[in-house]
Amino acid sequence: MARQILIAGNWKMNKGAADGAQLIKDLKAQFGSGCSCCCSGAKKPEVLVCPTFTTLSAVVAEAQGSCLLVGAQNIHWADQGAFTGEISGAMLKECGVTHVIIGHSERRQYFGETDATVNQRLKAALKNGLTAVVCVGETLAEREAGTTNVVVERQVRGALADISADDMKKVVIAYEPVWAIGTGKVASDEQAQEVHAFIRGLLKVMFSCPCVADSTRILYGGSMNAANAAGLLAQPDIDGGLIGGASLKPADFATIVKAAA
Ligand code: PGA
Repeated sequence: MARQILIAGNWKMNKGAADGAQLIKDLKAQFGSGCSCCCSGAKKPEVLVCPTFTTLSAVVAEAQGSCLLVGAQNIHWADQGAFTGEISGAMLKECGVTHVIIGHSERRQYFGETDATVNQRLKAALKNGLTAVVCVGETLAEREAGTTNVVVERQVRGALADISADDMKKVVIAYEPVWAIGTGKVASDEQAQEVHAFIRGLLKVMFSCPCVADSTRILYGGSMNAANAAGLLAQPDIDGGLIGGASLKPADFATIVKAAA
């Protein structure tokens, strides 16, 4: 099955509203006039940018009329209430976002995110009609201990607990080995493909309808850049990228999008 490629930029805690709007202007200039994507036809990748919360509205406004999609970097499971520092799905929707990243390793590492809270946040995203990009991936110690598949399986099963085949239409999985994030140490094409194929096989086991494994997009993240994107994106089970550092550089991000077309 042909899965539409998704190239997603995770801006992390970078770019306030003014700088974020400028980055969108710069991206649109990279992609040319008219539709902001550089390519047309069936192979046209979806392009998503995920700024920090306070930048969302400015970026949504600047992206209007282009085909850039806008997502948040987190979502709380409750609709409202006493959850200081958190943002609900309804609030995100009001900002005009359509996507949300859930369970990024930095959330897991620094903010106590667990497989259970990832699952709760995913349910909130789906309840609000948002497409979720759910992140999984092993640490260097886990890879060296030979437990990559065990860790990834636990994270995928935990994130997707009680999620139906129908819900999966709005779920994207991002495989991001923690040792490759922000380190410049990218997984080799083969290393990434191996884990992507494992995740797709796992989806086959988890969901009785084979359509889930066939149609769920699995992105690679971790030091993906303009130079290595083409090789990774050529792998049969890699359906796009979740890009941190390189997504802040318009020319590099545009090169990655073009590599996906
Ligand atoms: P990186 O980040 O591309 O800077 O390694 C990827 C991510 O954290 O999503």
